[in-house]
Amino acid sequence: MSTGTHGTGARFGGLATQIAALELITADGTPVRCAPDENPELFAAARVGLGALGVLTTVTLRCEPAFVLAARERPEPLDDVLAGFHERAEKTDHFEFYWFPYGRNALVKSNTRLPGDTTTRPLSALRRFVDYTVMENAAFGTLCRLGRAVPRLVPALGSVASAALSAREYSDVSHRVFATHRAVRFVESEYAVPREAVLDVLAELRTLVSRLRHPVAFPVEVRVAAADDVWLSTAHGRDSAYIAVHQYVGMPYREYFTGFARIAASVGGRPHWGKMHDLDAAALRALYPRFDDFRRLRAEVDPGGVFGNPYLDRVLGPVDG
Ligand SMILES: Cc1cc2nc3c(=O)[nH]c(=O)nc-3n(C[C@H](O)[C@H](O)[C@H](O)COP(=O)(O)OP(=O)(O)OC[C@H]3O[C@@H](n4cnc5c(N)ncnc54)[C@H](O)[C@@H]3O)c2cc1C
Repeated sequence: MSTGTHGTGARFGGLATQIAALELITADGTPVRCAPDENPELFAAARVGLGALGVLTTVTLRCEPAFVLAARERPEPLDDVLAGFHERAEKTDHFEFYWFPYGRNALVKSNTRLPGDTTTRPLSALRRFVDYTVMENAAFGTLCRLGRAVPRLVPALGSVASAALSAREYSDVSHRVFATHRAVRFVESEYAVPREAVLDVLAELRTLVSRLRHPVAFPVEVRVAAADDVWLSTAHGRDSAYIAVHQYVGMPYREYFTGFARIAASVGGRPHWGKMHDLDAAALRALYPRFDDFRRLRAEVDPGGVFGNPYLDRVLGPVDG
C-alpha cells in the first residue's frame, strides 16, 4: 500500500484506494486513527505514505464478496491492440497487454468478473505446469540467459518468444488468476501517464527500442487504473495508464530506462514509488499537486526525521527543507 501498488482495470484504483481506515504510529509513539471523517488530511497522505509518516499498524480494508474471473489471453498484432486500446480498456474489467520488443504480437489479457458461485473451468494441473513453470519461467529464463550471453541474438529470441505465445481461456477464483509466479529475475521501471497519452508514449517507446545500443530481453507491460484522491498515488486526479519497462537481470538497462523516463516526463509521467527511477523532490513536486501538503504533514508528524532514509531524502527532500 505505502508504495502505491496497483493492478489493472479502468474502473479500479490501486490497493491504497481500498483502505477505509487506518492506524498510524507516528514518530513520538502516538497512535493516530485516520479515516475520511477522522484526520482526513493524514488519511489522504498516509494511504500512500512511502513509510515517511509513521508505521501502519492497522488497516481496515473495503472488502467485497469473493468472485470468479473469466480469463482470456491471446496474442494479437500490436497495431490492432493499440488501435482498440481505449475501447478495450473501458469495456473490460481487467485489461492489460505485454509487448515483446522485436515481435509484432502483443499478449492481451482480459479478465472479466463473474459471481462467486459461477462454475469454474480452471486450467488443468498439466496446463498450469506447462504454461507457468515451463513456458513463462523455465523456457523464458533460458531465452533470457542465452540473450545475456550473446546479446546480438536477443531480437531473434524476442521474436521467438513473441511467436510462441498461445491463446487460452479459463475461469477460476480471482486470486488464482490475478497472482502469477515469477521465477525469472529482472529490473523494472514503471510510469503512470495520463490515459489519453498512452498511445503517443508507446509510439515513442517503440522508436527508442529500435535505436538502443543494447537489446531488450523482457516485454513491456501496459495496464490502466482509475483516478483517485490519494495525495501521492501515481493515479492521483487522473485516469492513468501504467507502462512498465523491464530488462533481464545482469543486462544493460540504463540507456533504455533513462530514455523511457524522458519520454514519460514529456507527458507528466509519475514513476512507481517501489520501482527504479531517478526523479528527485524538485521533479516530483511538479507532478503531484498535493506534494507540498504531504511535506507539511510529514514535518508535523515526524519533525525529527525519525523515519527518514536516503531514498526519502531524495524523493521528498529533508524533513525541514
Ligand atoms: C515480482 C514482483 C511483482 C510486482 N508486481 C507489481 C504489480 O503488479 N503492481 C505494482 O504496482 N507493483 C508491483 N511490484 C512492485 C511492488 O509494488 C513493490 O515492490 C512494493 O513496494 C512491495 O511492497 P512490500 O510490502 O512487498 O515491500 P516492503 O519493502 O516491505 O515495503 C515497501 C515500503 O513500504 C513501506 N512500508 C512497509 N511496511 C510499512 C508499514 N507497516 N507502515 C508504513 N510503511 C510501511 C516502507 O517504506 C517500505 O520501504 C512488484 C514487485 C515484484 C518484486
